[in-house]
Amino acid sequence: MWAIIWLALCILSGVLANRRGRSFIGFFLISFLLSPLVGFIAVLCVKDLSKEKENSLAANMMDTRTCPKCAETIKVQAQVCRYCGNEDLPPIEIPINPELTESHISAIQNITSKGIDYEKLSQEVLGRVIPIESLSLEQASSIIQKGSLL
Ligand SMILES: [Zn+2]
Repeated sequence: MWAIIWLALCILSGVLANRRGRSFIGFFLISFLLSPLVGFIAVLCVKDLSKEKENSLAANMMDTRTCPKCAETIKVQAQVCRYCGNEDLPPIEIPINPELTESHISAIQNITSKGIDYEKLSQEVLGRVIPIESLSLEQASSIIQKGSLL
């Protein structure tokens, strides 16, 4: 009887883990080998990945915009609509990352004012060119760190 309850609790912690975007098997095994209690605590301690997935989905949606002429969804970077050939696309609005503080932006502007090419720096540090305003806090920090060494 206890074995069934044990097993059921193990499965439950696996299901909870799965809901949080984690591995069902992993947490099932933790519960099974240690104790379902440990499994539950572990599930509650880990970061909820399912929310992060939603966030990255939202970020992906920001990669597209709507053509004002034909209302098709096109890439943000596109200069010509691939559906109707419309070249009169509205300017790209770059979302400003709320995490980024004024001091980070001015620190980067300080670096670029020393004659360092920001695009080159971004490419080197982050592997691609990201507009200053759209940097995450972490990305901004690594750029400032790298830039101050130059
Ligand atoms: Zn179009």
